[in-house]
Amino acid sequence: MDEIFEQGLSRVDANYTALTPISFLERTALAHPCRVAVIYGDTSRTWAEVYRRSLKLASALRKLGVCQGDTVAALLPNTPAMLELHFAVPMLGAVLNAQNTRLDARTITFMLNHGRAKVFFTDREFSERAQEAVAGCDHKPIIVDVDDPYAEGGELIGSMTYEELLATGDDDFTWERPSNEWQAIALNYTSGTTGNPKGVVYHHRGAHLNSLSNIIGLGLPAGAVYLWTLPMFHCNGWCYPWAVTAVAGTHVCIRQPQPAVVFDAIAKHEVTHFCAAPVVLNMLINAPKEQKQAFEHTVTVATGGAAPPAATIAAMEAMGLNVVHLYGLTETYGPSMICEFQDDWHELDIKQKATKMARQGITMLAMSDMMVADPISMEPVPQDGESIGELFLRGNNVMKGYLCNEKETTKAFADGWFHTGDLGVWHPDGYVEIKDRSKDIIISGGENISTLEVESVLYDHPGVLEAAVVAAPDTHWGEVPCAFVTPRHDYGELTEEEIVRHCRANLAGFKVPKRIVFMEELPKTSTGKLQKHVLRQQFVA
Ligand code: ADP
Repeated sequence: MDEIFEQGLSRVDANYTALTPISFLERTALAHPCRVAVIYGDTSRTWAEVYRRSLKLASALRKLGVCQGDTVAALLPNTPAMLELHFAVPMLGAVLNAQNTRLDARTITFMLNHGRAKVFFTDREFSERAQEAVAGCDHKPIIVDVDDPYAEGGELIGSMTYEELLATGDDDFTWERPSNEWQAIALNYTSGTTGNPKGVVYHHRGAHLNSLSNIIGLGLPAGAVYLWTLPMFHCNGWCYPWAVTAVAGTHVCIRQPQPAVVFDAIAKHEVTHFCAAPVVLNMLINAPKEQKQAFEHTVTVATGGAAPPAATIAAMEAMGLNVVHLYGLTETYGPSMICEFQDDWHELDIKQKATKMARQGITMLAMSDMMVADPISMEPVPQDGESIGELFLRGNNVMKGYLCNEKETTKAFADGWFHTGDLGVWHPDGYVEIKDRSKDIIISGGENISTLEVESVLYDHPGVLEAAVVAAPDTHWGEVPCAFVTPRHDYGELTEEEIVRHCRANLAGFKVPKRIVFMEELPKTSTGKLQKHVLRQQFVA
């Protein structure tokens, strides 16, 4: 049979261009040159200025020898420089490696070596670690200091400052679209909670599509005012540097998401949207009264990166904030699933509503497919809300793969799906609910115990500020659940018996923690994830 739709209808330059999020900046600078693009302390710049500066920076980097396929690393807080790097580096076909600012020098050295960084942007606050990290490098990158007036202490350690470098760029520099949208745009290392960090590589196409998907998921309107509480080093700030730019919004930058700073910024700049891990939401909920502020305008917060306890969602909503729950991984450019809000949930009481919203939901627009399945047979589990399987994803916002790590890449993509390593159930309404990471689930006497479920019950107790549940070895049961709890300061005395009583009333007996350990602070990664391996170590010791 003649395929008429394949005849004389080819892909040509006129009807096919490589997708890239850099085009968002070009368009926004044309559409809204005078609108405020970025606010940081006393500095404010328009879209025309940010575009011009990004082009100049790209030109300056080219003069330093940065070419297509080179890596540019950045150890920076959420400053305007970090935002500009998200555009300038890919304009050259180079790859941005935004690094977690809380990592130790040894890990930074590992990333600089592994990613073969040519240029390394740092901030005075991190100068000591940056210097130590570079000292250990096989090839020394050129160091550029972002001499931020709001940084405290530290030294300038580079061969030039960011503004000095920028000044060397040409004003008439033009950028070229990548010839291939599969070209790498970013390199993001996983936190290494499961071993050596793996270098996750993103391409222009995925970054473009995930940005658009995030605009729709969060409901970002034209001109949104977005507060940078989420680190831009985490999955490139879930692609929001590009997404907010696409809607010609305003980026409000802050160095640290301290509650007072966050509340002030929301009020002062009429912030409409921000993203934060549940741990940051808890900080806002538990902030001292004098730091909290009520807002007359609507504020939407996307949370994810870890499971938000229903109690946290309920408390945020009670403060008048709209909560959107997203799920994702570094490997999926950040958010890839969303708990789409159903109209009839408005009628539920806040606790029931929050419980529905705490589920991870369904795919976001850019993700093509998902399933919860048995990881051995790859057979989907029944959608009964009970059978546990691994979550598998497939789509255009799944990474290119792990840099120079074919073995792990092949493993992650086996059977035509991306293996998330997260275990969950599939509900009859098609929503997925994550129960645990595969390495965290507790198997006690052959029964699975979801640590997230036990934590959620602990969070419902008014005396609990934070909780983490891990497996403790047990000669009889194999493993038993054990809880680490940070009590709320204003609660009075919280006892082990009281917590156990609360758990007994709300959980099956075998899920009740067999030991409760009180802790002033739970160990967390810089992105707010509980470091359960640190807690488990206590039992090994
Ligand atoms: P790392 O794997 O390096 O710790 P990631 O940011 O890639 O860092 O972590 C992704 C993991 O975080 C997911 O596999 C999942 O376990 C957890 N996660 C992310 N978002 C959610 C969410 N909304 N609910 C539950 N867990 C989540």
